[in-house]
Amino acid sequence: MRTPVAIVGAGPAGLLLSHLLDLAGVESVLVETRSREYVEARIRAGILEQSTVDLLRETGLGDRLDREGDEHRGIYLQWPEERHHLDFVDLVGRSVTVYGQTEVTKDLGKAREAAGQQIHYEVTGTAVHDIETDRPYVTFTDADGVQQRLDADVVVGCDGSFGPCRTAIPDAAKQTWERTYPYSWLGVLADVAPSTDELIYAWHPDGFAMHSMRSATVSRLYLQVPNGTDIGDWSDERIWEALATRLGHGQDGWTLTPGPITDKSVLPMRSFVQQPMRHGRLFLAGDAAHIVPPTGAKGLNLAVADVALLAPALAALVRDKDFTLADAYSDTALRRVWRCTHFSWWMTTMLHRSDDPFDRQLQLSQLQWLARSEAGRAGLAENYAGLPIGF
Ligand SMILES: Cc1cc2nc3c(=O)[nH]c(=O)nc-3n(C[C@H](O)[C@H](O)[C@H](O)COP(=O)(O)OP(=O)(O)OC[C@H]3O[C@@H](n4cnc5c(N)ncnc54)[C@H](O)[C@@H]3O)c2cc1C
Repeated sequence: MRTPVAIVGAGPAGLLLSHLLDLAGVESVLVETRSREYVEARIRAGILEQSTVDLLRETGLGDRLDREGDEHRGIYLQWPEERHHLDFVDLVGRSVTVYGQTEVTKDLGKAREAAGQQIHYEVTGTAVHDIETDRPYVTFTDADGVQQRLDADVVVGCDGSFGPCRTAIPDAAKQTWERTYPYSWLGVLADVAPSTDELIYAWHPDGFAMHSMRSATVSRLYLQVPNGTDIGDWSDERIWEALATRLGHGQDGWTLTPGPITDKSVLPMRSFVQQPMRHGRLFLAGDAAHIVPPTGAKGLNLAVADVALLAPALAALVRDKDFTLADAYSDTALRRVWRCTHFSWWMTTMLHRSDDPFDRQLQLSQLQWLARSEAGRAGLAENYAGLPIGF
């Protein structure tokens, strides 16, 4: 097989890249280890930045998002006895939209199917070759057990944090940074109407808690737990009790309504960046190049911003042999990646319980600053609602 652009991974980054390339008149082929159903059911991110929403709308993916997405003007920040609303629209003129990654991937899957996109699902043994030449290729075994070779002008690694593309770049040509946080999130999905109109981020001496949502009838909630937590130790009753305490049930008449939990998982928290995001004819986008802890709601949005930069760069490269944008891609993308890496680290370290009493006082001091300073709130709002793509 031959294609101008071989894309490894059909998660949000890979699917959106193929969509944007198609709009620019460039063909691509995707290879993906999982089934389409698995990819579309994977429960992960749920908050879309303003730039992500704008891009999805501009590229014909906004219909269901506009009908079913829930636009939020801001978030609540709280600590015991205090809750403050930060209105992003008032502060920076931008908002966020609650619309699950599952829904974004379903919309993308449908659009790609309608366009006749070639996607090889349930492949095994994906490997990339000759990335330092102008004839790179990808090999894999397809769902029927047939060994395949996909020749391309360029290969794009959209294969997430455990895929083979990031590691295909030789050690001497790359630099990595990593931070593992000393806590995880216990995340639950519950069939109950959210007890809040917008997300609540709660600092609490017992640990961080967050009340998010996926729709008018489905709530998404998180609790800070120690690394290595066994999910079996957390009964539904214990989870609801901890959420009620940390989210301030009863405070100023606010109540948390519990409901049936339909999904529970423990998510470790990690920051990771690998640069450059290009080596020869291999480009990296999304989680393949960087991971952020979910506190700043940045992972999915960063993947979208990467491919929004990459699509015109690759179109110019394969159509006109113009390398200008492709050569600039890594540096341009990394500017935003590091901004979001810092913001995600900052939100995480400000809100999660630390065993160091000095740290705790600093956390409360930052929260007080946000409550009292419009400049402080505007900084958070600008980063949370999202800087423009290409910032
Ligand atoms: C458990 C979890 C929870 C998360 N929660 C949040 C959240 O609450 N908020 C938030 O903002 N972000 C969250 N994120 C981050 C967000 O989901 C990711 O940033 C986003 O999915 C990135 O998209 P991507 O396409 O780059 O990578 P992925 O979504 O990881 O897609 C990569 C794709 O590549 C495929 N692949 C891997 N290896 C191969 C191979 N060898 N060959 C072919 N295909 C391959 C994978 O199956 C996958 O479909 C979460 C991530 C995880 C893992």
